[in-house]
Amino acid sequence: MVIRGDGMIVTEADAYVQLAARIKEVALRGGADVVGIADPQRWNEFVPEGYRPEDHLPGVRSVIVVGARGPTSGAWRCPDHRLMEVNGYDFRNDVAVHVVADYIEQNLNHYAMQAPSLPVGGQQPAFSNMLAAVLAGLGTRSLAANIILNPKYGLLYYSSCFTTLALPADPRLAQDVCPHPMCVTMFRKLGKTPCLSACSVEEDGCLDGSIGADGRIESSYYDRERCASRAMNFGINSFQKAMEQIVNSDSAEDRHSMINSDFFTRSCSAVSHFRESVAQCFECMRVCPITRQERKLK
Ligand code: SF4
Ligand code: SF4
Repeated sequence: MVIRGDGMIVTEADAYVQLAARIKEVALRGGADVVGIADPQRWNEFVPEGYRPEDHLPGVRSVIVVGARGPTSGAWRCPDHRLMEVNGYDFRNDVAVHVVADYIEQNLNHYAMQAPSLPVGGQQPAFSNMLAAVLAGLGTRSLAANIILNPKYGLLYYSSCFTTLALPADPRLAQDVCPHPMCVTMFRKLGKTPCLSACSVEEDGCLDGSIGADGRIESSYYDRERCASRAMNFGINSFQKAMEQIVNSDSAEDRHSMINSDFFTRSCSAVSHFRESVAQCFECMRVCPITRQERKLK
């Protein structure tokens, strides 16, 4: 038996479940749309040492994963696709995870920290928030660039919190989110799904794949480098590319015009997260029935 803060006596099992519910409520109030909890042991099956929660927070007992929608439904409809990520909508998941970590340390007397996120480690992050979302029961991998789709919201942005606080883990999703039944029907007829058509490798795109007789993803192909050069027109990659051209130019006049160009200015803005869109292409998600349904408003 445990005596709660409000004086109620509950079983230890109940207290444990209620604690998880309280932390989820804190995350939702902090800006998350979904929250899940995973046991850190689950990583052992999927990633080598160096990429597991225990490598970042010794004694970690729970991983709390939050997902947030990112750009609003209105931003998705904007004809200028560069405006999709303006104003940092895609950082709400980071804010929610900071709120959770602060709450645990200040109120529950346990260590908590934000897991390293994508920018830490370039193309090989020290910790995969995509895998974390799957292991916390928030989504499954899709045919569209391996994006983890949530059954209610489709594309979400994920962040994770490591803590030494023991919490009950959520089960992984029993059913794959992708492919949507509509996509299975389309694949049977045309050999493509909406996302595979939007960015087909046969037409110089980045995606290919197939659906098996059981209606599940059978094979998938994603050209990450090609996608990065098409989808992320401005960011670290474009900054590096422009810098290389600038330092290799023998002409002072050319260097001056390249440094003051719109392209270089946007690349600098993107690198410093100053109100510049990083991702410019969401076509595979714009056509995805799961993501599209959630973004329908009047
Ligand atoms: S983001 Fe754009 S370039 Fe990348 S896979 Fe999707 S449609 Fe293709
Ligand atoms: S359109 Fe969406 S649900 Fe359909 S196959 Fe592509 S990612 Fe999966």
